Amino acid sequence: MKLVTYLQDGAERVGALTADEKALRPLPFGDMLAVIEAGADALVPAGEEVPLSAVTLLSPIPRPRQDVICLGINYRDHAAEADRYDKSLAKERPETIYFSKRVNEAVPPEGFIDSHPGLVQRLDYEAELAVVIGRTAKNVPAEKAAEHVFGYTVFNDVSARVLQTAHKQWYFGKSLDGFTPIGPCIVTADEIAFPPALPISSRVNGELRQNSNTSLLITGIADIIAELSAGMTLQPGTIIATGTPSGVGMGFDPPKFLKPGDVVECEIGGIGVLRNTVK
Ligand code: MG
Repeated sequence: MKLVTYLQDGAERVGALTADEKALRPLPFGDMLAVIEAGADALVPAGEEVPLSAVTLLSPIPRPRQDVICLGINYRDHAAEADRYDKSLAKERPETIYFSKRVNEAVPPEGFIDSHPGLVQRLDYEAELAVVIGRTAKNVPAEKAAEHVFGYTVFNDVSARVLQTAHKQWYFGKSLDGFTPIGPCIVTADEIAFPPALPISSRVNGELRQNSNTSLLITGIADIIAELSAGMTLQPGTIIATGTPSGVGMGFDPPKFLKPGDVVECEIGGIGVLRNTVK
């Protein structure tokens, strides 16, 4: 199932897309976090079909319960381009790089990435596969990790490159308001073979920038869940952004950073296109 959160008549609701993806059927839950806690097996769309043209899609998880767990430098070709841009970013990666990203409100499909003029220089995009945890994960071995995945979505880890490196930790430069588009839907895990091997790409104003496959993660999803859950409980609704392939703006010579008016599309095969405009 492809699950969405949407606005209809001013109310926030959740639903499942129809097979042609031109309509949805409502789900009897208050929000996506309640859907996730119920589990995919409990989902039975009820009520009449609603055409997508009659609703406004929001991010599937508009307000994550906790900060998003992100992986840095998790594709080899991105490690190389990051190293060319700034030697401090990727010179050592003996272990998986985890960092955190605050998301007060996720940017919806077709919503706006805030360029924060005056604060941000070198605004960049990062198309990523995000994993949504379904069942509480604590001490989960890698071979059982898939059982704890609720589904997958497309994630743009928007980054302010100057702020990112100025403050030692990447937290501030990754966490500004309007920096986290998520969507357009969550695809439930039963629809995607584990581990996901899906084409992932991004375009800026129609120009292909990133073009890779999620099978190329350095630390794969099973190992991420096993490693983290060995020491911290991953709760239902936790979002893990698995890192970005090469082709981000800082990877070009000269760099191709974002500016107001740019349209950024992040796409993952089998999930969808997440399109946003920089303002
Ligand atoms: Mg990233």
